[in-house]
Amino acid sequence: MFSLDLPICATCGNQFGNSPPPTTCPVCDDPRQYVPASGQSWTSLRKLQDNSEKKYHNEIVQVPNEPDMYSIYTVPQISIGQRAMLVKTKEGKNILWDCITFIDDDTVQRVKDLGGIDAIVISHPHFYSCNVEWGKAFNCPVFLADADKDWAMRKDLGIQHFFTEKRLKLAEDVQAVVVGGHFPGSLVFAWKNEHLLVADSIQIVLSGLGERERLPGTVMFTFMYSYPNMIPLDPDSILGIWDAVKDLQFNQVHSGWPGRVVKPDGKLKILESAKLIVQAMGYTQHTMLDQQL
Ligand SMILES: [Zn+2]
Ligand SMILES: [Zn+2]
Repeated sequence: MFSLDLPICATCGNQFGNSPPPTTCPVCDDPRQYVPASGQSWTSLRKLQDNSEKKYHNEIVQVPNEPDMYSIYTVPQISIGQRAMLVKTKEGKNILWDCITFIDDDTVQRVKDLGGIDAIVISHPHFYSCNVEWGKAFNCPVFLADADKDWAMRKDLGIQHFFTEKRLKLAEDVQAVVVGGHFPGSLVFAWKNEHLLVADSIQIVLSGLGERERLPGTVMFTFMYSYPNMIPLDPDSILGIWDAVKDLQFNQVHSGWPGRVVKPDGKLKILESAKLIVQAMGYTQHTMLDQQL
């Protein structure tokens, strides 16, 4: 049932549509990512599933205090180690926000036991992973931003829908929102007027974790063009991200990696962090600095 032998970049976890793959992975050979010093290497679902030494498997963990939200991630970590998040909407739909590389029969069965998946939407190309495999396994569409279409290393237009809307409504209380920044089509995911699920355009930093009061001037989020190469976003792009989320209602912000949540007042903390970072770049005047909740 899976395309077991299609190449997967070992660094970013993206599955490619053709074998042999190119000399280097275009997603990694880009200022936002990196090709490791040991050089480009490839794996495949077959190699990952059959790895008797590492015994990869997916954890499916209910988010504490959230009965309709499950974090799905691979142990031990593969490539960049992100999680996907399965949410159940009040209409009874299951939507997968973001995606991971590893999938096997056991994962499919356990997700089916939770009701399966009705739609997948992915934040940006670093997380495209094995999206076609996931879409096929659950016979559901995969929504990707059209602005980032060229970064999909495996295309299957029977499964993937490249959308051009700024906001994609997936259910009554669920929408994916283009915020740009890290990639032109980078998305966040708003759910139940309470949760904002983010990936790399808005990233939680360590000071943001834990439900606690923080001193003024504490940065809890950052907004980077590249994380591994530490290339910041410019102030206009940070303002663009803020403009895209400022009218959304949310309190909790969930990171693209397991277990990282900022609450309460996630929106206020995004605003405060954006201002602090723009000021740290040396700006004393910028429209971002005039923003209020
Ligand atoms: Zn790669
Ligand atoms: Zn990224």
